[in-house]
Amino acid sequence: MSSPNASPNAMAVGEDETRRPRRRRKGVIAAFVVFSVVSTLIARRRGYNMGGNIVVRCRKGHLFTTIWIPLASFKAIRLGWTRFQRCPVGRHWSLVTPVKDSDLTDEERKFAAEHRDVRIP
Ligand SMILES: [Zn+2]
Repeated sequence: MSSPNASPNAMAVGEDETRRPRRRRKGVIAAFVVFSVVSTLIARRRGYNMGGNIVVRCRKGHLFTTIWIPLASFKAIRLGWTRFQRCPVGRHWSLVTPVKDSDLTDEERKFAAEHRDVRIP
């Protein structure tokens, strides 16, 4: 008996059902996200530890650790599987390519761990 709850059925409008599917934009974004996730997973399957710190080798054979995030890179020019970036070991610019962890010897792994570049993707 307190306050009268809600208005007494104010005009029953929404009866003209317009059932149009909502914008497709969401689908496009979802497809893009799926694509980038899938390509990362494929790279991982091949034995590459993508999406974080990985060991790369420059053209001169220097090994170092860098952050490799697929589809996002600010400090390097992406050229597909390789990148053009600064090598902290030889202090020069070079094309670098990811190295499989299983292809590294313990010594190489240690060396790479001791040589990191800046922590910006
Ligand atoms: Zn180098």
